[in-house]
Amino acid sequence: MSDLETGQFSIDDLENVQITIGKIVGAIEKKAKEEGVEVGPTPKPGISGLRDWDYTLLSRYQPVYTPVCDQCCYCTFGKCDLSGNKEGACGINMEAHQARETLLRVITGAAAHAGHGRHILHHLIDLYGEDQPIEVGPSNLIAPNTQAVTGIKPETLGDLEEVMDYVEEQLTQLLATIHAGQEGAAIDFESKILHGGMLDHVGMEVSDLAQISCLGMPKSDPEAPLVEIGMGCIDSSKPVLVVIGHNVAGVTNIMDYIHDHGLEDKMELAGLCCTAIDMTRYQTDQGQKPQAKVIGTLAKELKMIRSGVPDVIVVDEQCVRADVLDEAKKLSIPVITTNEKIMYGLRNRSEDSAADIIEDLSTFKEPGALILDFDVLGEVAPELTLKMSKIREEMGIKALPSEEELQELSAKCVQCGACEMDCPDNLPIMEAMRAGVDKDFSKFEHLHDKCIACGRCDQACPKDIPVLNMIEKASQKLIREEKGLMRAGRGQISDPEIREEGVNLVLGTTPGIVAMVGCSNYPDGTKDLYKVADEMLKRNYIVVMSGCSAMDLGMYKNEDGETLYEKYPAKFLAGNLINVGSCVSNSHITGTAIKVAAIFAQRNVSGNYEEIADYITNRIGAVGVAWGAYSQKAASIASGCNRLGIPVVVGPHGSKYRRALIGKPYQEEDWKVFDARDGSEMPIPAAPEFLLTTAESIEELLPMLAKNCIRPSDNNMGRMIKLTHYMELSQKYLGHMPEDWYKFVRTETDLPLAKREELLKILEADHGWEIDWKRKKILSGPTMKSEVSAQPTNVKRLCKGEC
Ligand code: SF4
Ligand code: SF4
Ligand code: SF4
Repeated sequence: MSDLETGQFSIDDLENVQITIGKIVGAIEKKAKEEGVEVGPTPKPGISGLRDWDYTLLSRYQPVYTPVCDQCCYCTFGKCDLSGNKEGACGINMEAHQARETLLRVITGAAAHAGHGRHILHHLIDLYGEDQPIEVGPSNLIAPNTQAVTGIKPETLGDLEEVMDYVEEQLTQLLATIHAGQEGAAIDFESKILHGGMLDHVGMEVSDLAQISCLGMPKSDPEAPLVEIGMGCIDSSKPVLVVIGHNVAGVTNIMDYIHDHGLEDKMELAGLCCTAIDMTRYQTDQGQKPQAKVIGTLAKELKMIRSGVPDVIVVDEQCVRADVLDEAKKLSIPVITTNEKIMYGLRNRSEDSAADIIEDLSTFKEPGALILDFDVLGEVAPELTLKMSKIREEMGIKALPSEEELQELSAKCVQCGACEMDCPDNLPIMEAMRAGVDKDFSKFEHLHDKCIACGRCDQACPKDIPVLNMIEKASQKLIREEKGLMRAGRGQISDPEIREEGVNLVLGTTPGIVAMVGCSNYPDGTKDLYKVADEMLKRNYIVVMSGCSAMDLGMYKNEDGETLYEKYPAKFLAGNLINVGSCVSNSHITGTAIKVAAIFAQRNVSGNYEEIADYITNRIGAVGVAWGAYSQKAASIASGCNRLGIPVVVGPHGSKYRRALIGKPYQEEDWKVFDARDGSEMPIPAAPEFLLTTAESIEELLPMLAKNCIRPSDNNMGRMIKLTHYMELSQKYLGHMPEDWYKFVRTETDLPLAKREELLKILEADHGWEIDWKRKKILSGPTMKSEVSAQPTNVKRLCKGEC
């Protein structure tokens, strides 16, 4: 037996036998060798495995801490006042504590995705077996994050178990470092943050690979169907079943039941948040029309419940309001919880018959039920919806105030300002109340798009005025018109697409990828997303969407009545608009960058994270935007992008994440890399200028996006294109030329063609550059040379002659 290294053995009639399984040494390397795959130096890295790479990034992009709170109350020594970078009783200082707080958020986000991944993986293995192949479209590199991080090239669902084991082990180790008396250096907490972010993208990838493979979701499909989105799409004359959350596992049973019992036209099935996106991906690759509609983001949850339209609510996990049950109870809407992460104190009815549960809930014996058996759930949810619709209609439930009541409620307002003080966006509620007294409710209507429906105004009001309900009542006409289209999540970018576009991205002739991801905590309503995406698409950037941002983008139409999803094609090509899918599909965005390095540049991926990250940092013009980032998951997604050298901009609320990673463009020694051809040092442009930062407005954001798609490896045509967009966007949105444009010029061919002469004059007059006016050439001035064959790298060992 001791010779057995691979394969299977079975022993019948085992009795009094002791079996010892020794450590499986080098299993990844061995399997890879058998398959002819080269494994890089860091398969399954531990916390310190990529620390050198992190230090390289962090020496250029230094953490800037903006504490939300000056105290620490982690342990009973405290609470400790850390203001002025003082040390707490355990010796930790403010900076390290802020980094620790950020780490906590990042690993919470990563755990949410990993928890989702593990849950859906177990569920799908139960249904389809361990040998179910992973099928995600026409790709050989089907799990780029997984392979780069772990060295594992998964082929079946069973292979993903080992990947999850690794992610969970690492997350446990990271969580342990949060404990008092562990790490003391901010920089090492920062390295751990990047580690957590990297793990997050692996957990997300596992979740999406598993569900795409088993649930018939689009497989790298640019023709994924368009689905209806918006509160106005819901036909409230029919029974309405609303699903909220992120994990589509149990919802597919509901969809199957509806389909099998011919209920599609008899009821409405609609979703909020990422479950909604995944519902509309379910079985669409078999040409089936999506049954489900998308209501919208987290910001629509309370609005939808308060409207009284749902007859039954089903919740699963993540970004579900904690008061769903209480709010639903007020309007006689039963709530079904389906995941151990949210149980709301409800009785576990998983073992009971569907008939009994329906009877108890429809007679209000209990306000809801926990159902963890998805077969039972599949029957209960739709049947209960049909029943509740009649019951609630007979009860004559009134959800929102009448117009007369609106006026009366406005008159009750004493203009104390408490609501505005508590409103996260300081919305002008008092003004709306004043106008409401004169029956002018238009000002409430104006609040509707900007209001994230948090309900804090209601809680703050000393006169118990239901402010949110007033906003919603006044916006009924607007809500009825809230009908958009979103392209269903298409999954990965395929290998053939990378082959077609990779070269343009690396040379810069496709100016970059703008990935608009994350939640709905926007500073100024949802239309900003539309403006940003449209502007960048018109300029031939590839715009990639996911999650709540993908939904909100579909809510607006141009003068021809078209959404951007209808206006722009959805291939991985310049000027195309792609929705990869739900939150977990964000892994395909980083996966795309990894694929470019692997496929276009022929870099080895397996267990070779540092080299891949180094390649991406220097060559792939990509920027993430999480304009409405609110969640811990958004923090972990951003950190995962950051470890690959992809910069991320968050909206103004993102400053509450308490730290940014920002470079110092004026410090020349920070902007140098090695030329891998001979190991010599070469200067690079200060772009990306940051890894994580906030923008205050979209006017500030747009030129930032163009600038931070600039990369050292741009060829002259690419640099000219990127510089043109940077200068034009700055002129258009900020009203002036950017101050630093000349720093990105290496030769006259980098200059925007139409303005070349004018710009040469500025270079000569303002910056003292020497120009040969006869040939219109730059003779001296630039600090960087334009060399097509240069091989910029941050990693010395990758240089010729180094090992
Ligand atoms: S962990 Fe340290 S800083 Fe925080 S409360 Fe305890 S002693 Fe104070
Ligand atoms: S519900 Fe809307 S108006 Fe009220 S506090 Fe929240 S965001 Fe502001
Ligand atoms: S808190 Fe209530 S009473 Fe005070 S301004 Fe707001 S709506 Fe009026």
